[in-house]
Amino acid sequence: MPEIKVLPEEVVSKIAAGEVIERPASVLKELIENSLDAGASKVEIEIKKAGRGLIRVHDDGRGMDREDLRLALGRHATSKLGVFDDIYSLATFGFRGEALYSVFAVSRLRLTSFRAGADSGYCLEGEGGRVTAELPAPPVKGTTVEAADLFFNTPARAKFMKSDAAERAHLIRAVEEAALANSGAAFRLTIDGAEILNFPVLPGGRWENLKSRAAAIFGKSVYGGLARVEGRTEGMAVYGFVSRPDALSTTRANQHYFVNRRPVSSALLRQALYRGYGHMLTGRHPACALFVELSPGAFDANIHPQKRDVKFSSENEVFKTVSNTVYEELLSKQTAEVSLPSPGAAPDVPAYREALSSPPSAAAETGSLFAAPAASPEAAAAPLPPAADWRSHDLSYLGQLAKSYLIFESGAGLLVVDQHAAQERVLFEKYLEEFDRGGVRVQPLLVPLEAELSRSQMETVLKWRDWLKTAGFEIDQRGPAAALLRAAPSLFYFTPAAFAEFLGYLSEVLGEPEKAAEDMKRSVIATMACKKSVKARDFVRPQEALRLMEDLKRTRDSYHCPHGRPTLFYLSGGDIARRFQRSSAA
Ligand code: ADP
Ligand code: MG
Repeated sequence: MPEIKVLPEEVVSKIAAGEVIERPASVLKELIENSLDAGASKVEIEIKKAGRGLIRVHDDGRGMDREDLRLALGRHATSKLGVFDDIYSLATFGFRGEALYSVFAVSRLRLTSFRAGADSGYCLEGEGGRVTAELPAPPVKGTTVEAADLFFNTPARAKFMKSDAAERAHLIRAVEEAALANSGAAFRLTIDGAEILNFPVLPGGRWENLKSRAAAIFGKSVYGGLARVEGRTEGMAVYGFVSRPDALSTTRANQHYFVNRRPVSSALLRQALYRGYGHMLTGRHPACALFVELSPGAFDANIHPQKRDVKFSSENEVFKTVSNTVYEELLSKQTAEVSLPSPGAAPDVPAYREALSSPPSAAAETGSLFAAPAASPEAAAAPLPPAADWRSHDLSYLGQLAKSYLIFESGAGLLVVDQHAAQERVLFEKYLEEFDRGGVRVQPLLVPLEAELSRSQMETVLKWRDWLKTAGFEIDQRGPAAALLRAAPSLFYFTPAAFAEFLGYLSEVLGEPEKAAEDMKRSVIATMACKKSVKARDFVRPQEALRLMEDLKRTRDSYHCPHGRPTLFYLSGGDIARRFQRSSAA
């Protein structure tokens, strides 16, 4: 008697179903994709009992005739793949012919379809993979799939279902992602009779539809903080919406990534997005609807049963294009916002604030943050007006304004510097330089500083104690929820309150389940330390002001503080002349 047995078909089909169909939302995702692959312009979805009762998807796509209807339920039955090689150059969502087969194995299924030119529509009914009825149906354009009593024959799987609320959230997200990625099709979702989503196709094209859908999906306040990004390198395009650096949130719930319109969860894309923010994140998270378009041969969606994960053939290129696009666009938006108003406008605004002119092409300078030259975004904001690089002129110090701004005369006009922003930039880079060299200069504190933390924060701090020591912070435990700072980097000076806040932030960042890259952690710690550490006193002597500018000159991005705010701007001779309505600089 051989010990090895071939599993009966019924068991095989359930095993296969388990891989593709994890929960009601996976059924829904597959059915929506089939509708889109069939060229539907409208997809209507009806859900009952969080998807366990019924998942019904109706589309107006090309439909199936009687023969195809029967074939569609078989394993590896697909109309989307001719030669096997095609699997690497597919433009459709489906290609494995497993979805309907898998859904059929674990539900009571009814498929109704009509293909133009056929005598009539047709309907198949069955359960657990067995067809029980074949009937003619009215000739209604498209296809309707109804999957009822999901997992009725796999009780173990049914037990894995989460609460109705959780399953509903997954179902809604599946429709939201399909609607974001396919703005040319209309979507409507009802759950237990109530309309939850309704996205018609608006006139105005892809961006208009993407905008209105993003507004509905993210909610007004998150949507209001989004900036449009768009960029392109050879063989690859990136576009979508991402949070402005001043509108980040505490969770990453609002992140949607797509590769060739497939929703994916890709650590690479997420890290590339985060890198695009440079030092502006400080432990918070952007919202995004970020689309990557590649030639179908440049990635593999086949490595995951639910096609949720993707493998890129050139990961570096993808990473760089995404991070550069986000970085450049955020930067250009930040700097393009400020422009010289026409003379006479807003008389109540102090002149030095009103006359902000765009800093010169800071992007060129900060391109060094990335290993490769920056990508040129396809539809970037209007190019910044050319302005002199402040570093190429001698400066003479004129004085200080409002204890905050340093005013210099230079060959190119008047240079206005935000003293704190400039100091932060200098500190930030000095500290990172020491850190990277492995030689952070440390100063023991005469009186150690104490900070109250939550227990979990304390745990995180203790876990990272050795790393924090290399960062220049010597921290001891004082009690179950109190930390003691015994030494700190000499570059910084903390008040007790600032230290407590710093440590709170830090434990949040370090406690992230996702392990951030080492250099990311370094810049986060540097950003926060600079922000929290007390700067030199407000008043500066002329030598100190000039010294600061010398230090600033040597930084990698002298135009921005670590959080991305500008450090300085020029008021050129021309700008000044224009305010006096002269034709040229006097
Ligand atoms: P795949 O999408 O990988 O081809 P599926 O099991 O999801 O596999 O579907 C099998 C086949 O059934 C598809 O290739 C397609 O020909 C047909 N089909 C499924 N859903 C629809 C639909 N909504 N409209 C038209 N044809 C469909
Ligand atoms: Mg499919």
